[in-house]
Amino acid sequence: MRAVEYTRADTLDAAVALLQGDSSAAPLGGGTTLVDLMKCGVAHPSRLIDLTQMPGHDDVEAGESVLRIGALCRMSDVAEHPEVRRRWPAVSEALLRGASQQLRNMATIGGNLMQRTRCGYFRDPSFTECNKRDPGSGCAAMDGENRGHAVLGTSGSCIATNPGDLAVALTAFDAAVHILGPDGHRVLSIDEFFPLPGETPEREHPLGHAELITAVEVPVSAAAAHSCYLKVRDRVSYEFAAASAAVGLEVLADGTIADARVALGGVATKPWREPGVEAALIGRPASAAVFREAAALAAADAHPRRHNAYKVELARRTVERALLTVSG
Ligand code: SF4
Repeated sequence: MRAVEYTRADTLDAAVALLQGDSSAAPLGGGTTLVDLMKCGVAHPSRLIDLTQMPGHDDVEAGESVLRIGALCRMSDVAEHPEVRRRWPAVSEALLRGASQQLRNMATIGGNLMQRTRCGYFRDPSFTECNKRDPGSGCAAMDGENRGHAVLGTSGSCIATNPGDLAVALTAFDAAVHILGPDGHRVLSIDEFFPLPGETPEREHPLGHAELITAVEVPVSAAAAHSCYLKVRDRVSYEFAAASAAVGLEVLADGTIADARVALGGVATKPWREPGVEAALIGRPASAAVFREAAALAAADAHPRRHNAYKVELARRTVERALLTVSG
């Protein structure tokens, strides 16, 4: 058994200082990912810095131009917030479909963005080949069981799928991630927050060891207000996406699409925006034929492996169905 020290931080500044002073410490939110990884033998922090007992950072503010979600908000509180449901329904739906009620009651928004891949080889240390867990060791998934792995954004080092749902909705609607660290406050676009694996798949985000997410902001838009999150999976609940789509449309009174947002989940190494699909929608009539034509452009640069080619067609059909749902 490993001993783990537990410390409560009273403020974010104190948490940053504690992390800065201990390279083997890890921040603890709801613990729904980190404790799981500790049990698997993948994460080995010697000290947990509990963030959840500090006051503040758990507010949802739905303003005139932006939705601001504190990093310590619980998934369930954001999903059920009446303004989020009304003005950013895809965000609410992504949270509802992202975990069971029990997990939603515990997991924080910051922790949700930091969750790690469900690649079975990564989560089982008895497999020695995993560049994400042990850089330079290889990738057992390349020629192994890769039915759930990514077809977009892959590299020769890693094909692990990003498991997020919320992150897909945030990507569709141009969210920003606010961060506090030893050098102060900075803001990253959601796209910057999730780098491609390239040759360094162990780096899943650009945060330094002592940096913490403080809040997420999502701009107000007509497309976000007319949006949905569709998640397709092997079973109805408690499962990660085989493919998912966050879609938003702004449709004018004459039926013309003025704005379109499309992002994919479950098929890529990061939440995957689809600008080609969006361009094929904007300026055209909101019709089933246009939706089908545009959705066929999704996952255009896919590189399937032996077991996951089905994801290409599934992603396109998911986008098409989401467009029909949100327009209907
Ligand atoms: Fe590891 Fe990535 Fe390969 Fe999975 S896909 S075994 S996480 S390197």
